[in-house]
Amino acid sequence: MRLITELSAWRCFADEQRGLGRRVGLVATMGALHAGHASLIQAAKDHGDVVLATLFVNPRQFHDGADLAAYPRNLPGDLATARASGVDCLVTPTLAEMWPSYPAPTPTTVSVHGLDEVLEGAGRPGHFDGVASVVAKILAVTGPCRAYFGEKDFQQLAIVRQMIHDLAFDVDLVGCPIVRDVDGLALSSRNVLLGADARRRALALNRSLRAVESRRASASEHRATLARILGEADLDVAYAEVVDPVTFAPCADGDDGEARAMVAARVDGVRLIDNAPVTLVGREG
Ligand code: AMP
Repeated sequence: MRLITELSAWRCFADEQRGLGRRVGLVATMGALHAGHASLIQAAKDHGDVVLATLFVNPRQFHDGADLAAYPRNLPGDLATARASGVDCLVTPTLAEMWPSYPAPTPTTVSVHGLDEVLEGAGRPGHFDGVASVVAKILAVTGPCRAYFGEKDFQQLAIVRQMIHDLAFDVDLVGCPIVRDVDGLALSSRNVLLGADARRRALALNRSLRAVESRRASASEHRATLARILGEADLDVAYAEVVDPVTFAPCADGDDGEARAMVAARVDGVRLIDNAPVTLVGREG
């Protein structure tokens, strides 16, 4: 596995691979790698790509300095996981190269308006500007044929899809399913911050989603189910919503068809998100 930190060497590696006629598959991460990240790497390998993974804890997507400071970091473990997963090139860019002016704002920001105003965007001001800006830069340097993103961050996936479309990045975006622990908790780098009791209570996120996924109901019935199950677990709920999976507009009673249930909560100060597909049936009569 090649290990690169300089932006010029990173660009060079991707150029070389394309020159050899290979397809570069990108997996962008913030590290503290787990089996969810490994599933994206595996998806890239299944497509026959040369896998380039990036590991960068992007400060521009954290609006809360304490959250950034507490974000799990584990470079030795990440090197081992990346190697074992078959990453061909791991890029750990420096803050100085990614955002030279940091902590002063970077003059150029990519904003995906509309999608960035609801759910995660409403609770974390500037979060999606930070995400879109860093993904745009990573795509610009890498020039991948395919980019693999997880449905775990369903709204982020939609924002990246919109940005790729609007800015005409020449890349196929591949959305990958959520990987869960055996107890159903969606894998997240933040899970290591959960104590035993918090982790047990956090299972309500998955429980609430399974309850709505398995039945057909109106939007407000689904919302009530999510709220009831999360409420029983003593979580600090940020949202428990049922939205259109493309526009992220809240679904109304009377809407039919496929929607997305989106939940977010703080559990002992650790912010967790999860989501699942749901089917809506408009109210009868
Ligand atoms: P992160 O390191 O949390 O920024 O995540 C990097 C990529 O891995 C993003 O595309 C995430 O959506 C994806 N990812 C994180 N957790 C999971 C999971 N449990 N299942 C599938 N993909 C995931």
